[in-house]
Amino acid sequence: MKNQDTMMQYFEWYLPNDTKHWERLAENSDHLKELGINYVWLPPAYKGAGGKEDVGYGVYDLYDLGEFDQKGSIPTKYGTKEEYIKAIQVLKAKNIKVIVDIVLNHKMGADETEEVLAIQENLDDRNINVSETKPIKAWTKYTFPGRGDTYSNFKWNWTHFHGVDWDDSTGTASIYKFYGKHWDENVDKEKGNFDYLMGADIDLNNYDVIAELTNWGKWYLSVTNADGLRLDAVKHIRSEFFPEWLENVEEDLPRDLFVVGEYWTNNIGTMKDYLEKSKACMNLFDVPLHYNFVKAATSDGTFDMRTIFDGTLVQTNPEKAVTFVDNHDTQPGQALESWIPDWFKPIAYSLILLRKNGLPCVFYGDYYGIPEKERAGQKEVLDQLLKARKLYSYGEQQDYFENADLIGFVRKGDFEHENSGLAVVMTNRLGGSICMQMGKDFAGKEFYDCLGNVKENVTIDEDGNGNFSCHDGSVSVWIIE
Ligand code: CA
Repeated sequence: MKNQDTMMQYFEWYLPNDTKHWERLAENSDHLKELGINYVWLPPAYKGAGGKEDVGYGVYDLYDLGEFDQKGSIPTKYGTKEEYIKAIQVLKAKNIKVIVDIVLNHKMGADETEEVLAIQENLDDRNINVSETKPIKAWTKYTFPGRGDTYSNFKWNWTHFHGVDWDDSTGTASIYKFYGKHWDENVDKEKGNFDYLMGADIDLNNYDVIAELTNWGKWYLSVTNADGLRLDAVKHIRSEFFPEWLENVEEDLPRDLFVVGEYWTNNIGTMKDYLEKSKACMNLFDVPLHYNFVKAATSDGTFDMRTIFDGTLVQTNPEKAVTFVDNHDTQPGQALESWIPDWFKPIAYSLILLRKNGLPCVFYGDYYGIPEKERAGQKEVLDQLLKARKLYSYGEQQDYFENADLIGFVRKGDFEHENSGLAVVMTNRLGGSICMQMGKDFAGKEFYDCLGNVKENVTIDEDGNGNFSCHDGSVSVWIIE
């Protein structure tokens, strides 16, 4: 990661199912470049069980990037394979790195059922069996009639999975662990053992599965020429799997991959433990920071803003942190809904975009809005903050985290970037001002709030100090006029 790297998560859950997303992305590449976005995270690009209604996490066929007539259509929700590859090429030609979404925990939408012996598990503690071993009818046969043997002749059956959540013979939803299988140990301990998440849980200890997924990884990287990976649901996958898999798929690759994993937990100890167990082979999304934002935004102003970075990855392992405000899972209506209210969004984005540490990821839904849920985007504010990141947020960082309600920080600028340096003041309660030192080089300079919240300018005094302010429940970002 370099200092000014900036990512955008280029999708939200409710994008229209019109198969035009890749096309629109290619058309929008100049705009992204202009914003200073140099990493774009794309949604899962393979055919899901829901065909073109599938966001992509219900993976049916990893080899179908919108090329085969499967699940009701050739294109995926986002478009055809050709359009996907084209969009990637367009982005890469503009030096924007492409991060692809990798979903290896589960599969959904099998072609046929099989009779399998299985044991029912307690939903809240998957270490407890709640039935005898009994035959169930499981959706576990993947034969891919629409693709046949193109790219791979591997056909999946129940032996390649740990279990499922549906017995088709009785029509019962539960969690069924297959006879002779066990949940992997080095997974998250939530629900006793969180190996199982959804669909047919892939057995990532099975040699044939490992070989197939390694071949697939190599194929996928050669077809897409992607620069990096976003690994889905890593807490549900044994921690030894990805270091090995990454080493194998990267073996003959002439480039280093940027890798970021989704380990969904608010516990920094758990995250650090995972980094260690997975041999630090990936960066992680800073989930605890997201939850600190939630707390700060929903505490009626009682949250102590000085603690906003406490227990976060960007504080403890800054070189491993991909910071974000919201994503496709935390948005309204989704599995991990914990949406940060509109008024706090500019504050949260100032904290990830204008400071030194972490690789910030801007959410598509925050920028463009979520029409399906009648959420307006914050394009104007984000344009200003992205511009401030690109042009001004350089140099030494000094924090003024002295008041529980009102905090601020300055970046003192550097010689390489003309007029760089900025001052940021924010509150989740009542507005006010903080005297902060920009440095004597700035004496006599006028600063203005580029977000337009405070209208009066600030003049830096002869000692290099400025009295920077913000209004109630808001942030002001001060740059040289
Ligand atoms: Ca699993």
